[in-house]
Amino acid sequence: NADYDSSKPAAQFMKVLITEHEIRDRVTELGQTLSETYAGRPLTILGVLTGSIVLLADLIRATSVPLRVALIQAASYGGTRTTAGELTINSALVPDLRGRDVVILDDIFDTGNTMVGMLEAVQEFEPQSIRSAVLLWKTDRTVVDVEPDIYGFKIPDEFVVGYGLDYNDEYRHLPYIGVMEEEDLKHASGN
Ligand code: 5GP
Ligand code: MG
Ligand code: MG
Repeated sequence: NADYDSSKPAAQFMKVLITEHEIRDRVTELGQTLSETYAGRPLTILGVLTGSIVLLADLIRATSVPLRVALIQAASYGGTRTTAGELTINSALVPDLRGRDVVILDDIFDTGNTMVGMLEAVQEFEPQSIRSAVLLWKTDRTVVDVEPDIYGFKIPDEFVVGYGLDYNDEYRHLPYIGVMEEEDLKHASGN
């Protein structure tokens, strides 16, 4: 729309919730946790497209044990900004996981429905073990019985973007986690 100026740095209007430095330090710790937990084990990190890609790239470089990388796609259609629509899982890219120790990696655990769907879908591949890992956990919104096995930060119930997380497929490239408030939405395209 007319208000949208793509040359304007997002940081000028968006509140930073987690800085680039804080993310880097925490991802380093998560990498160390994975390295300790999966030493000598056949680890496959299964990134959930598209939100996990930035975390995936950083986390695998913070991990010092041999591992494989694979991708699975989750999409929810018909949802709004804050409510997910019907979950569709595309596992066409998933390799043979039998005998592997799988870590499903996503950007955020919100209601938890996406991760529960992922856990069920990955179970079909009969891996040796499955754990879940996310950067962010919106604890107040979680409705499922499971919790993420590994998480970076617990966050309040606010809509966040950056470091892989999108609004209308934009803002994934921001190196920090920012909160999109009503005022910020006016600057976003597609409105
Ligand atoms: P779930 O509610 O199933 O745990 O999360 C559904 C999906 O909604 C997440 O994988 C993520 O793609 C998206 N989502 C949930 N909360 C947020 C948020 O605060 N910001 C962004 N950008 N996406 C979110
Ligand atoms: Mg997602
Ligand atoms: Mg999204």
